[in-house]
Amino acid sequence: MEQNLYDVIIIGSGPAGLTAAIYTTRANLETLIIGGRKWGGQLMLTTEVENFPGFPKGIMGPDLMQNMRKQAEHHGAQLLDVNFTTGDFGKSPFVLTTDDDKTYSAKSVILATGADTKWLGVPGEKEKIGRGVSSCAPCDAAFYRGKNVLVIGGGDSAMEEADVLTKFANHVWIIHRREEFRASDIMQKRIFENPKVTAVWNTEVLEIMGEMKVEKARLKTLGNVLKIKEANQDKSRTLDELGKSIVEKDDSSFTWDFPVEGIFVSIGHVPNTQVLKGIDLDEKGFVKVYDHTKTNNEGVYVAGDVHDTTYKQAVTAASFGCMAALDLEKWLRSK
Ligand code: NAP
Repeated sequence: MEQNLYDVIIIGSGPAGLTAAIYTTRANLETLIIGGRKWGGQLMLTTEVENFPGFPKGIMGPDLMQNMRKQAEHHGAQLLDVNFTTGDFGKSPFVLTTDDDKTYSAKSVILATGADTKWLGVPGEKEKIGRGVSSCAPCDAAFYRGKNVLVIGGGDSAMEEADVLTKFANHVWIIHRREEFRASDIMQKRIFENPKVTAVWNTEVLEIMGEMKVEKARLKTLGNVLKIKEANQDKSRTLDELGKSIVEKDDSSFTWDFPVEGIFVSIGHVPNTQVLKGIDLDEKGFVKVYDHTKTNNEGVYVAGDVHDTTYKQAVTAASFGCMAALDLEKWLRSK
């Protein structure tokens, strides 16, 4: 049986991929989206999205993605809930394989594979994912009702995780390696006004300990006193005052254990480029762009967090999707 040759295959179904599909289908290009078994990208793991234009009262992340999917499908995009596994991006037509061993061909491709959780990489972390270690408060916060939890990180994502967790947990401790957050002012303000949150500065996680599940985190703090911020006040605390004890100490730092049942890692994301063979990447592993949305291979375009090291917003991912679709359409028409 002769295989269908699509005008474009889009790999990824976050805001970048789905926006690209809305544009390519409306340009009358036959469009296939290899959307992934977990379609929808990072917004599927969030709660309220307050900064996507058009929703004055905000919208839940999964609802926003559902709307985008419906819109793309309404215009004729075909979305497969399977994972992309391999592809030859050397020359059009491109042949791509999915994890159900099917192959699909297209004249052009948009890479919109997004980014995934960056983990700490400390001993005890990997084997306890799902056993007390999580990267998704909206998914797992309810398991920590009345318990103490740690959030690791200092960006907007960490603030969001902490905010969600306060709805369930007894208290949320945000462990950050420096003495100030990098999160936006509005998110920091919200967090520091919450009486259920304490920020712990100059502290990193050395190890996540416990038999079958998380029992404690081994932490290392720079200096000889613990600096914290809670209820909008900067404070210094000894470990005695916090009811914790020192494991080890030297002139510049001390190591201590924090008994806790949940640890939410929120230290950023890594681009999903492992499966993109033959595509040029930058030194951090993001897809390298040559001219707007073009990759090193003619006919292969890129959109969203898989190449964006700067903005990383839902709305910018959507915008990159639009740009990639327009660039690709122009290229296809020129041929
Ligand atoms: P991010 O802004 O890159 O922040 C990552 C945080 O993790 C930083 O505070 C960083 O510390 C810390 N970190 C990184 N590697 C670490 C390690 N190995 N050990 C300990 N700490 C580590 O990432 P993000 O919070 O995921 O945000 C990504 C982008 O999405 C940002 O542009 C953000 O504004 C956006 N975002 C927006 C919203 C919203 O507007 N509602 C929500 C979520 C995310 P340092 O500060 O010391 O580098």
